Amino acid sequence: MLPNGDVDLSERLIRFEEDSRNSLTDPLTGIGNLRRLKTQAERLIAERADDPAPFSMGTFNIDRFRPVNDLFGRTAGDEILAQVALRITAALPENATLVRIAGDKFGMLLPTCFFEQDAEEMGALLADVFAAPFDLGERTVRMTASFGFCQYPFAGETFDELLDRCETALYRAKQAGSGRVQVYTHEIEAEMRRRTHIEQGLRKAVAAEDVQPFFQPIVNLADGAIIGFELLARWADPDLGPISPSTFIPLAEQAGFIDSIQRLLFRKAIKSAQNWRRDVFMSINLSPVQLVDRATGRAIIRIMDQMGFAPEQLVVEITETAMMSDPETAVRIITDLREAGISVALDDFGTGQSSLGRLRDFAFDKVKIDRFFVSEIDRDKRSEHIVQAILTMCEGLDLSVIAEGIETAAQAETLIRLGCTTGQGFYYGRPLCADAAVELLNGPTAPA
Ligand code: C2E
Ligand code: CA
Ligand code: CA
Repeated sequence: MLPNGDVDLSERLIRFEEDSRNSLTDPLTGIGNLRRLKTQAERLIAERADDPAPFSMGTFNIDRFRPVNDLFGRTAGDEILAQVALRITAALPENATLVRIAGDKFGMLLPTCFFEQDAEEMGALLADVFAAPFDLGERTVRMTASFGFCQYPFAGETFDELLDRCETALYRAKQAGSGRVQVYTHEIEAEMRRRTHIEQGLRKAVAAEDVQPFFQPIVNLADGAIIGFELLARWADPDLGPISPSTFIPLAEQAGFIDSIQRLLFRKAIKSAQNWRRDVFMSINLSPVQLVDRATGRAIIRIMDQMGFAPEQLVVEITETAMMSDPETAVRIITDLREAGISVALDDFGTGQSSLGRLRDFAFDKVKIDRFFVSEIDRDKRSEHIVQAILTMCEGLDLSVIAEGIETAAQAETLIRLGCTTGQGFYYGRPLCADAAVELLNGPTAPA
C-alpha cells in the first residue's frame, strides 16, 4: 500500500493487464474471443496497408452441434468446444490466431495464407482434424465442421467486411452439405453484387407495383378445355432483363418483403380474374415463409372478401418442402383456407420427402405431379409406373391430380392412357399476361 492509500501502482498495472487480457479471452476454451480477432486483424491490416500483401481470415462452425448439445447436455457440449479449440490450435501454424466467436462458431486469422488455394488447403486440413471422434468420458461422438475463408484485401479492407465475407463463404459451405470448405471467390463476389442489384430493383418494382401476374392454363386433357390458371409472378429488372421467379421469390423471402409481392400480385390477379368465367379457378403459390406465419390464411381470405372473389374459385398450392419447417402452423393455415371453402393442392409432388405420410396427415384437395416425372414419362418406364401409382393412390384418397410440365402430344397421350384427366404445360399453353389469358379464355373473336 502506498502512503496515499492507493494500492501499489505496479499491482494496478498487472491487474489492468489481466483485465484486458481477460476481455480478449474466451473463458470456456482459453483461446481468444471476437475482440481478439478484431484487434489482431486490425493490427495486420495496418501493417499491410502500405504493402497490401494478402492474408486470410476464416470462420467455421460445427455441423449439427445443437442436437449434440441437446442429447448429451451442455457440459458435454462445452467439453467438445474445448477439445475443438485444442485440436485446431495444434493444427494451425504458429503465427495464426484462433478465437471462439460465439456458441460453436470459431474464427481465425492466417497471416501467411496468401492465396485462395492456401486457404482451401488449410480448410481441408482443418476439416480432417474433425475426423477423429471426440471423447466424452464414457462415450465418443463424431462430428464435422464447415469452413468459410476470405482474403484481404480482395474480399474487404476492414475487419467487419472480412468477417462478413467469411460468413457468406461459410453459409455457402453449409448449403453445399456438411464438412465443406468454401473460399470467397470472384464468382461469389459477382453473384453477391447481382443479388444486391436484384434486391434493390425488386424493392423499387414492388413500390411501383411493377411485378406482373402471368397465368398458365390448366386444362382438361381430353379436350384441352381450360379449367383454371396458375398465377406465376413475372418481373424484369431494368438492367438485367427478365428474372426468374425461382430467383426473385426466394430473394424477397430472405429480404423480408415477400408478403408485399404476394399481396400485390394477388390483387392484380383477382382484378383480372373478374373477367373470367366463374367456373375457371385460379391457383396461387404460397412461399415457405408464408407457411410459418399463422396470419397467412386469414390475409388471403381478407383480400378475397374485400375484392369479392369466390373462395370456390381459388386453389392454394403448397410444396412439401415448404411445409416441413413448421408443419403445425402449415396445418393451421391449410385448415383456415379449407374452412373458408378454398382448395389446397400439394405442389411438386414426388420431389419432396415422405410424400405418402403427408398425404394421409394433411387434408389436401389436389396433387400436382412434378414436371420431373412427366418429362421422363415416355423415355423411362419407371416414371410411367410412378405416375400410374400416384394416380391410383390419389383415386383411393379422393384427391384430384394435375400433371405438370406437359410439353409434347406423346406425353399428354400417355397421361390420358394412364387415367390422368387434368394437366398443364407448354404443350397446352405457356404462362400469359393477364389480357392474353382473358382473350384465350374467351376464344378467338370471330372475324367480322
Ligand atoms: P411451380 O409452382 O412449380 O410453377 C411451375 C413452373 O413450371 C413455372 O415456372 C412454369 O412456367 C413452368 N412450366 C410450366 N409448364 C412447363 C413446361 O411444360 N415445361 C417447363 N420446362 N416448364 C414449365 P416459373 O414461372 O419460372 O416459376 C418457377 C417457380 O417459382 C414456381 O414453380 C413457383 O415455385 C415459384 N413462383 C412463381 N410465381 C410465384 C408466386 O407468385 N409466388 C410464389 N410463392 N412462388 C412463385
Ligand atoms: Ca405451383
Ligand atoms: Ca409445381
